[in-house]
Amino acid sequence: DPRIHGIKSKIRVVPNFPKPDIMFQDITTLLLDPEAFKDTIDLFVERYRGKNISVVAGIEARGFIFGPPIALAIGAKFVPLRKPKKLPGDVIREEYVLEYGRDCLEMHLGAVKPGERALVVDDLIATGGTLCAAMNLLERAEAEVVECACVIELPDLKGRERLKGKPLYVLVESH
Ligand code: 5GP
Repeated sequence: DPRIHGIKSKIRVVPNFPKPDIMFQDITTLLLDPEAFKDTIDLFVERYRGKNISVVAGIEARGFIFGPPIALAIGAKFVPLRKPKKLPGDVIREEYVLEYGRDCLEMHLGAVKPGERALVVDDLIATGGTLCAAMNLLERAEAEVVECACVIELPDLKGRERLKGKPLYVLVESH
């Protein structure tokens, strides 16, 4: 798709952020370009419209940027998957392992009903640990995860292999 090149060109790569030897993929520069940002949302909407998806689950924090416009356009609810202790209601929680230490995602109990068809959205997949935890939350709520969608994949980290066979759709690969 000719729009992909424009999207990729707007993602800024910042060396040594937030730590030495990390090439950080910065999507804030994509957001500064209304055409590239719209193309990003449109590509997802074209893929997911008419697929009977009733839940878009976005991962804190950058899944909160891309998830809601997709949800509105396809007529789905938006469910935030948040870092610990941010959600005020009763939650279910999934811990996951990071390169250094552990992290955790929480989802409000009752936000998703059994049998609902869900799309999980984040900006980027690296090791896949975050998306895997997100999928576990939705599956514990007895939703059906239709697909995971990210703007960027770092394929060298093989995160795709951790997604329990669920499909992953990405717009841009970065090596
Ligand atoms: P994973 O769990 O797949 O190893 O890491 C993915 C998570 O870390 C995502 O929530 C993503 O937002 C964040 N992340 C890791 N590296 C980067 C990066 O280079 N750029 C951005 N924008 N997010 C990153």
